[in-house]
Amino acid sequence: MDATARAEALAAYATDTAGCVRCPLSETRMQVVFGSGNPDAELMLVGEAPGFHEDQGGLPFAGQAGELLGRLLAGIGLGRDDVYLANVLKCRPPQNRDPLEEEIAACEPHLFRQIELVRPRVVGTLGNFATRLLSGRSLGITRVHGQEHELTLGGTSVLLYPLYHPAAALYTPSMLQALEDDFFRLPDLLGRTTPVAAPSHQLPVAQPEHIESSEDPELPELPELPEQTEGAAVAAGATQLGLF
Ligand code: URA
Repeated sequence: MDATARAEALAAYATDTAGCVRCPLSETRMQVVFGSGNPDAELMLVGEAPGFHEDQGGLPFAGQAGELLGRLLAGIGLGRDDVYLANVLKCRPPQNRDPLEEEIAACEPHLFRQIELVRPRVVGTLGNFATRLLSGRSLGITRVHGQEHELTLGGTSVLLYPLYHPAAALYTPSMLQALEDDFFRLPDLLGRTTPVAAPSHQLPVAQPEHIESSEDPELPELPELPEQTEGAAVAAGATQLGLF
């Protein structure tokens, strides 16, 4: 299939998936959050599941984690539209709880079909759920982040590249640094020119004590990220997200 035919097949698959009732999340979701971006992308990034904002808007990585992801991509010269973004689960779990095994099992054919149709060269798995599902191994992200390996997914040979989840990195400076460092290797893995200098502390860490209000009753929105942050704060929040 050429790129045009694959893009058409992906769009048709998204339309079919919009009415998915493969698991009970279909009863509580607002809408299926299928995926977004370049249907012929060389880089696909796979997160965990839609949250409040994604469920409302229908696009992945719409909140603060998405904002950080956008900055990380910009740091290596890519925009959201250059890559393909998807999640392990296409529907929001209530209260943003962790995906259940049976939900992952019900939803995974959608992700494998996306990989089959996009045919990315590199698949960056963001956090434990995506990494464990696509690697087929149970090792945690802290052990495996930044360690790429070749494997076949959806009938396609890809380089799997585990990364910390940006939602976790929002709260933890050491994780943010590791995520930046791992991101910086992406151009090389994609066979492109590497940016001149490794970014260091370019991306600010959220400071939860400044949380004021939220449209999301279950997951408070963090304040707008400043350009630079000195002495970034560490919060307990990331561990509660179950992301690492
Ligand atoms: N938004 C997403 O779409 N996926 C995540 O894993 C987190 C936030």
